[in-house]
Amino acid sequence: MPSPTVAGMGDTFQTLVDRDATPEDAPRLARPLVDWLVAEGIVLADAEPGWALSEHPAHPPGPHWHKAVENARWGSPEGVVVHTERHVFWSNHHDSDAPAAHCPRCATAVADHSLFSAEVDRWHGTGEGAVDCPACGVTVPIPAWNWSDDHMAFAVLGLEFWNWPWLSEAFRARISEFWPGHRTVFLAGKI
Ligand SMILES: [Zn+2]
Repeated sequence: MPSPTVAGMGDTFQTLVDRDATPEDAPRLARPLVDWLVAEGIVLADAEPGWALSEHPAHPPGPHWHKAVENARWGSPEGVVVHTERHVFWSNHHDSDAPAAHCPRCATAVADHSLFSAEVDRWHGTGEGAVDCPACGVTVPIPAWNWSDDHMAFAVLGLEFWNWPWLSEAFRARISEFWPGHRTVFLAGKI
């Protein structure tokens, strides 16, 4: 049963992504985090299919899932998917109508997303993919572009919470502590 707050609003997701994990690091960085979530009772240990709107198995919510959220009153959370392989993370929960990619070298905003699509596919398939900045000309790998509103993230490590009430600031900060020195982005949306 959908909870009253999401009835008629579709399904929501909130994703925390480590932008700097390498493919080799991702499983090693994910394991202690999942262990902590299980120890806190926020998720159950075994990921199962059918707990997320995703082909990926997901950890069902644990008995203390409410510790992760701002207001548990209407909550009816579903699963948490732990991604440890290349994934295109996205969001649609932001104020701006036209999120842009920003060159990490010159900060120029590139609003034409069509420049990216073929190279994003190539990155997803092979781990290689880059777009030349139209302003400064430098060749920027797909994951290195900075997206306004955290609109996109191309990364190998992320936690995707399906239909959870809004995750608290404190909880999100605690997750980031498992990825010291790395950039964490928060992407939310609904489908
Ligand atoms: Zn540039």
